[in-house]
Amino acid sequence: MTAGKAFLKKNRKKRLEQGHPWVFPGEIERIEGNPQGGDIIHIVNHAGHFLAQGFYNPASQLILRVVTYSENDQINEGLFFRKIEQAWKRRQWLVPDAASCRVVHGEADFLPGLIIDKYEDVLVVQILSLGIEVRRQWVYNALKQLFNPRGIYERSDVPVRRLEGLEERAGYVDKPFDTKVTVLENGIQILVDVAEGQKTGYFFDQRENRAALKPLMSGWGARRGIKLSEDGWPVDAKGKQIKNPFWDGAEVLDCFSHTGSFMLHACLYGAKKVTCVDISEKAIEMAKGNALLNGFLHRTEFIAANAFDYLRDQVNQRKTWDVVILDPPAFAKNRQAIEGAVRGYKEINLQGMKLVRDQGILVTASCSYHLSTARFLSLLQEAARDAHKVLRLIEFRRAGLDHPVLLGSEETDYLKFAVFEVFNL
Ligand code: SAH
Repeated sequence: MTAGKAFLKKNRKKRLEQGHPWVFPGEIERIEGNPQGGDIIHIVNHAGHFLAQGFYNPASQLILRVVTYSENDQINEGLFFRKIEQAWKRRQWLVPDAASCRVVHGEADFLPGLIIDKYEDVLVVQILSLGIEVRRQWVYNALKQLFNPRGIYERSDVPVRRLEGLEERAGYVDKPFDTKVTVLENGIQILVDVAEGQKTGYFFDQRENRAALKPLMSGWGARRGIKLSEDGWPVDAKGKQIKNPFWDGAEVLDCFSHTGSFMLHACLYGAKKVTCVDISEKAIEMAKGNALLNGFLHRTEFIAANAFDYLRDQVNQRKTWDVVILDPPAFAKNRQAIEGAVRGYKEINLQGMKLVRDQGILVTASCSYHLSTARFLSLLQEAARDAHKVLRLIEFRRAGLDHPVLLGSEETDYLKFAVFEVFNL
């Protein structure tokens, strides 16, 4: 039995049929029955032809969110269990070495508004839809059965919940436990506090992108005039022996470093020196702790500062690096904020590329889904023109394999990650 039926308008864009998982209020012709917020109802076209079943929330702009395209699915605890199990199996298949990863990625795992991140033996849940909110016990039961976790923590402390008519909430789901977890990523140990860190504690979406730093971290010695002598020692242009074992490594600026994941990878792959900059003192402390944990402290430097000011100051001081990494937070939280966000991204990239030595590397990301790939690339081009640089693309990447993307839903394709060689004009 369904609680109701939503008839969609005849003259609407057929987004739902093309894989988009949301229906907006203006697309609905009428609703039959008397569904309550959080109920699951059938979504049918103007002629009554079944399209999907979805969560109903009249208080939200996302009035319907697709849960299944099958008319026969009984949406009960068993279905939730199977969906979460399938999502986990998919991660075990695609990222078999990761004991820590995103297990459920909302709409793209057909569980709209549900995020589940696994940090070794700890699970973090974020609930962003009323439909999941009212069924959250099903989620917790499934997680206990599938993972037998040491603890589950809820991080629903995000303002977007208000758009669903929900209060922010964070805390232990059952009994308290130590929320500090050391996760392994590409062979690096990273200390995460799931109660305190940004989002659910860490950003798994850049796992593969961080590994992409590998070839960029070496090969810099020769550019500094260092050669190997006949007996195999590195020597500088004057023939003086170089003692630093990381003489071939890059000098790296990791801006918006958070707890230092890019810094840690840079060090793993042979960087000579990495400077971390983040506005959060807490993040910088964690980054320092992570450098220590991995034995990289002597190759790192930590600065708690506003990156906008820091970048400009360094440009004024004519400081330069071999590799500059920019991984800012989402400047555009909504569509209206996009123009301001573009200015922000352009500014940091403009200053960032000025700090790159000739033929050095700019690694730049945006996790704003309101900013399209085309717009991101065009603002980078504008910044390059203003900075008198030519950019040559090495690679363009997206979120990692545990963050699936629905082709019909650009919202699930939010992360852009580009690696450029930077030439002086
Ligand atoms: N690179 C990180 C993720 C970055 S998240 C990783 O891979 O884990 C964005 C970070 O930017 C957050 O840590 C936040 O504290 C920081 N931040 C936000 N605004 C900032 C600003 N104006 N200057 C410097 N850091 C800022």
